[in-house]
Amino acid sequence: MPLKPAVLCDLDGVVWLMHQPIAGSVDAIRRIREAGHRVLFVTNNSHATADEQASVLEGIGIEAMGSVVTASQSAGKLLRRGDRVLTCGGPGVAQAIEQSGAVIVGRSDDPNFDMNTEVDAVVVAFHRTFDFAGLTKLSAKIRSGARFIATNDDATYPTPHGVIPGGGSIVAAVATASGVQPTIAGKPYAPMATLVKAVLGETDLSNAWMVGDRASTDGEFAKTVNCRFAHVQSGVANASTDLAHAAFTGPDLASFADFLLGSQN
Ligand SMILES: [Mg+2]
Repeated sequence: MPLKPAVLCDLDGVVWLMHQPIAGSVDAIRRIREAGHRVLFVTNNSHATADEQASVLEGIGIEAMGSVVTASQSAGKLLRRGDRVLTCGGPGVAQAIEQSGAVIVGRSDDPNFDMNTEVDAVVVAFHRTFDFAGLTKLSAKIRSGARFIATNDDATYPTPHGVIPGGGSIVAAVATASGVQPTIAGKPYAPMATLVKAVLGETDLSNAWMVGDRASTDGEFAKTVNCRFAHVQSGVANASTDLAHAAFTGPDLASFADFLLGSQN
């Protein structure tokens, strides 16, 4: 029997909001899986590790161990074994760097970082300790020739209290200060598409779906992967206007499950 099309699923604004499940999303994932579709959660949240995010999904009733790919993991794939890395960010990016065989030689928020340290790559991710001193270290090392890798370029991050600056705002500051544009690992860029295809073991995803709440990231990522885009309106920061290429539009993940499973009858 041929495999049913895979479903790539965004987390923030689709499955949950700040880890609070969106009504119907847990049951929707169960129904999609029971119908034989493989589900892979694809998130630009770089802070937590993939296993930590899988644990939180399991806490709301979604089996997810081994089914979460993050922008940090994608950034790790851009490193070479032995690369000396200056970084910033949460445990997700640190783990991804170490798993790539690269070595973290410093953190930009460490006041004791020695600027004479040799650095091959600078990996920038969301962190709340970002400040002028950190910006100085990150941009100086890039100007000196270190490769500039960003986990993602989301300008903002939705919270129940409104949006806060996202990793992309920090990346933009580093790009301005260094005069260098980064290689961006997360959605909607090519490195994440390469990682998703490797994890699924499939190169042709033209029948697969990407379900997301933002056309600018999830919709564009569907184009990069060359799969279909399902837009759901359950995100907090829903500024999506260009939905011309969405093959499905609905209020939430439950409505997408109804559509996907109903269309198979
Ligand atoms: Mg989202």
